[in-house]
Amino acid sequence: MKAIFDDRQWAHQPKHFMANGAILPNPEQAERIERLLGGAKAAGCVVEAPLDAGLGPIAALHSPEYLTFLQTIHQRWQFIEGAGAEVIPNIHPMSRSDSYPKSAVGQAGFHQGDTACPIAAGTWQAAYWSAQSAITGADLLLDGERAVYALSRPPGHHAFGDLAGGFCFLNNSGIAAERLRAAGLRPAILDVDVHHGNGTQGIFYHRKDVLTVSLHADPERFYPFFWGHAQERGAGEGLGYNLNLPLARGTGDDAYLEVLALALRRIEAFGADVVVVALGLDAFVGDPFKGLAITEAGFGRIAAAIAGLGLPCLFVQEGGYLCDELGDNLTAVLTGFEQSRA
Ligand code: ZN
Repeated sequence: MKAIFDDRQWAHQPKHFMANGAILPNPEQAERIERLLGGAKAAGCVVEAPLDAGLGPIAALHSPEYLTFLQTIHQRWQFIEGAGAEVIPNIHPMSRSDSYPKSAVGQAGFHQGDTACPIAAGTWQAAYWSAQSAITGADLLLDGERAVYALSRPPGHHAFGDLAGGFCFLNNSGIAAERLRAAGLRPAILDVDVHHGNGTQGIFYHRKDVLTVSLHADPERFYPFFWGHAQERGAGEGLGYNLNLPLARGTGDDAYLEVLALALRRIEAFGADVVVVALGLDAFVGDPFKGLAITEAGFGRIAAAIAGLGLPCLFVQEGGYLCDELGDNLTAVLTGFEQSRA
């Protein structure tokens, strides 16, 4: 299958984030690109650069206030005396409906939900092209491809309409799904990242035209903590169009596949005609986040089960952090899918 990636996605080189009170190296390293490209090529993918579809498909989900912030905040940050090299928030509004702040520090707190999404000089450029990779992937499905892999990095599923978080700035999977919906299709987003896709859920929570389904480590004791619980089913018109399937920490292949079968049944019942897979590889047993215990063979089985839907499929890269097997796990997904699809 085709793989989509743009070299400008290297420009985001985050240095730090804070975990448990400690300032640590940021795990969302650009080196992930090399591993993932290697994994895609090993699966037989031909890598192509995305086209530039412009800001329109991104602005379909993200507010103009937020997009202006992402584009300009790093430059404005330089005028703060003694400021650090990266934009990292240190104060947050008590309520999202509080007034919109004028200051760079206030806006950082408003638009960055945590410390895991530092913004530096190349962040906007990388996030923009990461989104374009997903958009081109969606367009290739519209042109008749049956499956495409978008190497979207930085990832996207923790980004809300006006809020970055968890290494994410633009919601690539959501942007791709909206692109498909706008073309007349009925997309489901299946999020298999070890973390709940809270941004994606938030964006589509009141809508019934895009189904959102997420399997993830139980957020009771795992990021993103405040979202991802089973009782979050959507609201208003969207009630019943969001499905969260939290799993016990350390869940392995067999138990995971049983729950995945429920997710796939829901996607069929929705009448989806295309699937966007928010493809986190951090459910891996050896991933630094240690949430679930999926093996390399397990990733192949997960992909085979998804292929069983018989639907066109866009894989959009989400998490999956540096470990020796990162590339192999991607290869397992892409080959598992190719070998099993009808
Ligand atoms: Zn993740």
